[in-house]
Amino acid sequence: MLRTYNCGELRIQHANETVTLCGWVQKLRDKGGMVWVDLRDRYGVTQLIFQEGETARALIRTAKTLGREYVIQASGTVVERFAKNENMATGEIEVKVNKLTVLNPAKVPPFIIEDDTDGGDDLRMKYRYLDLRRNPVRKSLELRHRLMQLTRSFLDDQAFIEVETPVLIKSTPEGARDFVVPSRMNHGEFYALPQSPQTFKQLLMVSGFDRYFQIVKCFRDEDLRADRQPEFTQIDCEMSFVTQEDVFETFEGLIKSLFKHIKGITLEAFPRMSYHEAMKTYGSDKPDTRFDMKFVELNKVVQGKGFNVFDQAELVVGINASGCAGYSRKQLDALTDFVKKPQVGAKGLVYVKYNSDGSFKSSVDKFYGQDDLKAWAEKFEAVPGDLMLVLSGDIDHTRKALSELRLHLGDLLELRDKDTFAPLWVVDFPLLEWDEETQRYHAMHHPFTSPMAEDIPLLDTDPGKVRANAYDMVVNGVELGGGSIRIHNRDTQQRMFRHLGFSEAEAKSQFGFLMEAFEYGAPPHGGIAFGFDRLCALFGGSDSIRDFIAFPKNNAGRDVMIDSPSVIAKEQLDELGIALKI
Ligand code: ASP
Repeated sequence: MLRTYNCGELRIQHANETVTLCGWVQKLRDKGGMVWVDLRDRYGVTQLIFQEGETARALIRTAKTLGREYVIQASGTVVERFAKNENMATGEIEVKVNKLTVLNPAKVPPFIIEDDTDGGDDLRMKYRYLDLRRNPVRKSLELRHRLMQLTRSFLDDQAFIEVETPVLIKSTPEGARDFVVPSRMNHGEFYALPQSPQTFKQLLMVSGFDRYFQIVKCFRDEDLRADRQPEFTQIDCEMSFVTQEDVFETFEGLIKSLFKHIKGITLEAFPRMSYHEAMKTYGSDKPDTRFDMKFVELNKVVQGKGFNVFDQAELVVGINASGCAGYSRKQLDALTDFVKKPQVGAKGLVYVKYNSDGSFKSSVDKFYGQDDLKAWAEKFEAVPGDLMLVLSGDIDHTRKALSELRLHLGDLLELRDKDTFAPLWVVDFPLLEWDEETQRYHAMHHPFTSPMAEDIPLLDTDPGKVRANAYDMVVNGVELGGGSIRIHNRDTQQRMFRHLGFSEAEAKSQFGFLMEAFEYGAPPHGGIAFGFDRLCALFGGSDSIRDFIAFPKNNAGRDVMIDSPSVIAKEQLDELGIALKI
């Protein structure tokens, strides 16, 4: 070894010991006769000292030539520091250097490699390997590592077997576009990268593996957001001979165990909420239940009073921002601007202030008298001092917009504390979702999800009403994982494909292998997959998954460090039999 200790481990009890450290020069303070160097590695920072009278002249001269991020090896004696630094684990000592070797000089880094950096996002991504030297970034990856190890050990204890499934496959539909890879040996043919290992894990159940998991890369070619990456990691799991209840018990267990180990938090049993209730009371299938502010539907109370906007609306619905009656004109305008943003999409916002003297002041006073507004307030269970905010329009858009407003207010009123965790299971999802664009049904989860047994007859009469045996785990408004009990019977699977608009031939060519497998003794099975990057972000208290990925892509799906995607040479294209038309 080039070193006897790392930069985070020397303490006062090492005083007088001769040691050798290696690392990067974080900072150099040159006071003429005295030079201090902060030497950093993954484990911490140790102060080196070069001092006239104590250190050889030549050595001090060399120390003065060190630049930031030089890689050095320093040997010397551990001494007690005169001025101790309590904020540093090694703050009681320093190393009086008597031998210094520059292992590798460094160019001046493009941004400061400290906890607070002056580097913007783009620069940090371009030089990600330097960004990764910073504590907060490294800590995020250490957290990821911990979560990964704990997950593996928990699932291993529960008899799950980790099996790797192939990456060059053909499409597994999860509702996004596939990334495809051209085949050199079969011109005109393509592999697809897995959007998930869904079909493979089901086949492993047919094989009798009983309990499978894999921490696995998945690929989806879709528009990116802060919590999405084109390649991301799942904790993918499947179990045989289980009901929904068994899946809940196992994976609630996993998440609880992670919370216990990482955060020291004991979570209560996760509540359950139907999709229908989630949509009705929070306008979202991933409600943030850290705070209430539930939706109140007002159609009956507000319609028929001559206010056209409400009269014509399919849904009039609001929330009560408790204690906000004192909001100024400016604050109310800001809320109106918020709901009118294209991403939120409401046309306007109606407010009612419940003043402390018991009177009401609203933006629709022209249409509603004090008694009318009192009836609203009763619906909201509002008290003086509250502010009622109401949106109207068609059901889907209005709920979505109000859900955004609710979350926005949750932020403004500081009701979304990062250290509070509100998990729940959302259940009873619809099996199918009508797609206006293609004018046909899509599987809301994926086509392998089993309908609820009692809803199967509805498949032919009212497909939109059929509930799926599917579930999501939601924590703090983040969909952490989702899964379902699967179809394990060829006829049902075939029928499902028919409902999704597949011809028999299409179903056979794409998923014939799975349907055939179902004829060779497929056990009932079900499973779940967790978004591992999101899980890391949740535990790390961040909204962005990017911080928890060593080498992430930017918003445009580019890796700006290696500059990819990129063009490939004509010869390579020829070999693949691809002619580009650009
Ligand atoms: N394959 C599904 C997904 O990626 C999860 C599952 O159904 O287990 O969302």
